[in-house]
Order: sequence, then structure tokens, then C-alpha cells
Amino acid sequence: MSILRRLTFLLFLGLCTLAIVPAAVGQAKIRDLKPTVILLGIDGFRHDYVDKYDPPHISRLARNGIRAKGLIPAFPTKTFPNFYSIVTGKYPANHGIVDNSFFDGEQTFRYTNLADAEASKWWIGEPIWITAEKQGKRTATYFYPGSSAAINDTKATLSRRYNGRVPNEMRIDELVRELGKPTDQRPAFLATYFSEVDEVAHEFGPDADEVRYAVLNVDRLVGRLVDALRTRGIADRVHLIIVSDHGLTTVKTENTVIVDELVDTNLYARNPITSRIIWQFFPKQGKVPEVLRALAAGKGMKCWEREKFPERFKYRGSDRIPPIMCVADLGWQLSTRESYDAERRSIDARVIRGDHGFDNIHRDMQGVFIGSGSSFKQNVVAEPFENIEIYNLMCKILGLTPAKNDGDINRVKHLLR
Ligand SMILES: [Zn+2]
Repeated sequence: MSILRRLTFLLFLGLCTLAIVPAAVGQAKIRDLKPTVILLGIDGFRHDYVDKYDPPHISRLARNGIRAKGLIPAFPTKTFPNFYSIVTGKYPANHGIVDNSFFDGEQTFRYTNLADAEASKWWIGEPIWITAEKQGKRTATYFYPGSSAAINDTKATLSRRYNGRVPNEMRIDELVRELGKPTDQRPAFLATYFSEVDEVAHEFGPDADEVRYAVLNVDRLVGRLVDALRTRGIADRVHLIIVSDHGLTTVKTENTVIVDELVDTNLYARNPITSRIIWQFFPKQGKVPEVLRALAAGKGMKCWEREKFPERFKYRGSDRIPPIMCVADLGWQLSTRESYDAERRSIDARVIRGDHGFDNIHRDMQGVFIGSGSSFKQNVVAEPFENIEIYNLMCKILGLTPAKNDGDINRVKHLLR
């Protein structure tokens, strides 16, 4: 081989290596790691997906640590309220994100609007990255709901504005890169978020084979992270916590409540805020009883007036909770005549899809909790617990004094050594 050809060959090898490890995040062993938590939020990962789809890396973590039989979401079983409950230890009525979209009497919060996601006025309570930053630790949040807003004028040291098109592998590599920083700059708390499992299960229903592939995709990301931690010699010392915001259940088109035909829209002060599972109503002054009476004719849903939700929802005391809220019964959906007819006429009309947002009493709404790392017990399957307990658990592991919250460490300390 001529020198030129050898150089070309070496260059080629170098390019191959770059292609495999695009982030080139460094491989050095980390010997001075302080207590560290990585929180992986997997949207819509139902409690039984570990058994049902047997993802190898996630299953191994579960065996090496703690796995709960289910993670009980707060009501309503939607993404933003629950991911924010996990990091604040507060119920949605107390942390302010009472649904994915809501109205506070003046303005509407919509989770799809980046400006809302970054406006601090909406986010009440203290997420763990703020608790940590206030107590002198660095944190890195990469797309975790709520993490791009400045809360109490504070953000994580590293935070990035949400963009769903950023490849999942890059989210993992960026966190690993942060861990590779010198001790005084290395974050103690890191978080990221993956949406794929939820999206695919909405589209095809939770029992479809497509969901197995989505779960295995996320599992490969977990494997990528664990491999990187192992290379740096910290796989057993980092606390890796896998959580989801809620589960998901099958919804059939035939189980639809046509809600807009029940109520005279002249009774509305403003239009309802609607999703497939939850409708929020804003009747004119004095018209709440009349609207409630009209809604009572709808079979396949339950409606409550503000301050009259069942006690077990802990869904009272916030003026962001609407005057009336209707929630579909498990397996049902709420619609307008127009969208229902369009759905039935549609060329790819789906009889089965998946959804969440229902009463949190249902087992299908339970998410996943897996905790591994030196503070967790090993090879233990725990009874389901509420997601508001996780904040205290993470504070305990990180040696932080928790802010006031709705959890109680005594209810979850059996998970720790
Ligand atoms: Zn969803």
C-alpha cells in the first residue's frame, strides 16, 4: 500500500469512526462523581410495556434496581400536568399546570405554544432542577416539560427550547457530554424526554405491533446511555430513573359522545377548550347549572363543576380549573358532530386508536417507574405509588432539602437502601 493510499485508508477509517460516534463526547473515566440523577421521561409508556414488549435494556435496569408495578398519575392523566408533578412533587391544582391547555380567567395556556411553555407565570412550585440550582448544584434539562421556562427567575444551567425534530440519539449524547465536564461544571441532575411511544400508541392503539417497535426504539436509546455510562466507569453510580406521565387505553370510534349537540352555545361565555378525552366549559354568569343539566344527557362521559371533583382527584383550589369539566369514560372519546363525521368518512378512518386523560383510577392510565443506581434497592418489584412522591425521592438521593410539596418521603423510603 502506498503512503498516499494508506493515508486515504486511515482517513476513511477516521470518517467511519466519526460516523458511528458523531458527538465525539469523550471516553475518559469519571472518578470523582458526586450523587447524580438522570431522569428519562418516556411519554405514554404504560406500566405493562416492560412485560408485554420485553425491551432488553430497560428490563435489565428494572432487574438491577427497583421497578414499581405501576406509577399512579395525577388527574387529569395528561402529559404536561404529570411530567410537572413528577419534578415538583405537587398535584396539578397546586403546581398550576391543570391540563395541557387551560384558561386562567385572562389568558389561555396551550402546551403546543412555545411562548406559553417559556412564560414563568404559568409554572408554580419548584421543579427539582431549581431546588438543586438554589442549593449550589448544576443541572441540565434537555426538553423536559417546563424546563425552558425561568421559574423563580431560575433555569437549569443547561436548558434547550423544545424541538421535537431533534434526534433522540442526540438528546442522550448531549447529556453524556455534560457528564464528561470537570467536577465543578458537571450537573448533578439531568433530564430528557422522548415522545415516540405515546405518538405511535395514539395512532395505532396500545396493543398494536407498531408500539412494540416504538418501545424497542426507546430501549435502544437507554442502551446507548448505559453503554456510555459504562465506558466512563459510572454505570453503577449514576441513578437512572425512567418514568412516564401516564399509560394509554384503546378507544373505538363507535364509543363517541357528540358533545356539541348537547349544549346551546348561547350559554357559553367563551368556547370550550377541547381534547378527545376532556372538554372544559366556560358558561355565562349563572348558567353553570343549566349547562351541567344539558351535559348530563351525554352517555359515555362524566362532568363535574369546579370545586366538586371527587376528593381523590386532589383537583380543587385553582382558578385555572374550569367552571365545568367533562371527562370521557374509559375507552370513550368526546367529539363534535363535524369531526366525528369527518373521522368516519376519512380515507384512513381508524376504528381503534389510543388515548389518555381519563380518570386516574384506571389501571391502564398507570405509567412506569424504574430506578437503578447505588441508592436504590436491587431486584425489587414495588407496589404502585403516586408520581408526586418522586420529587422527594430525587431530593433524598441528591442530598437536597426539598421545597414544600404534596409528597411524603415516608411513603417511598422503602425503595431506597
Ligand atoms: Zn399522548
